[in-house]
Amino acid sequence: MNMPIIDENDDLSATQNSPNLKVPSEIFGNKIKCCICHRICSKNPKYIQLEVLSDVILPFVLCSKCQDTFTAEDIKLMTNLFMIFGGYFAKNKLEPFSPLRILHELTSNTAHLEPTQINMQLLHRALLHGISPKEYVEKLQQLASSELNSFF
Ligand SMILES: [Zn+2]
Repeated sequence: MNMPIIDENDDLSATQNSPNLKVPSEIFGNKIKCCICHRICSKNPKYIQLEVLSDVILPFVLCSKCQDTFTAEDIKLMTNLFMIFGGYFAKNKLEPFSPLRILHELTSNTAHLEPTQINMQLLHRALLHGISPKEYVEKLQQLASSELNSFF
């Protein structure tokens, strides 16, 4: 996946001149929060532009830790999920993550959800608990193998 990375000194005036588009990363005085983890970007913030919600390109700011931790594909996926469902990476880190409990919660809801919607919401909940997309896949693989072992 090709994610254009722009230099922090690049001019974002194209977006700033558009009244309907705002920088999703929150700005506090001169400080900007990372779009993934919401930490203040105190050193080496990276300004990027991502296509979100299928057809809108917005600027985002990444802290140095998220730049080092996540792939470009992870960042695009996570940014889209946070824009759709809210929150940020590790927002609920102190709470236990139980995929089966969340799955039960999502499927017992009266509103019918398509499997793709359930997958997206389950991954979003994992991200809120501070579980990266890679760790999430590993956890699902462990869960699937333990369920298969108990089945056979
Ligand atoms: Zn970050």
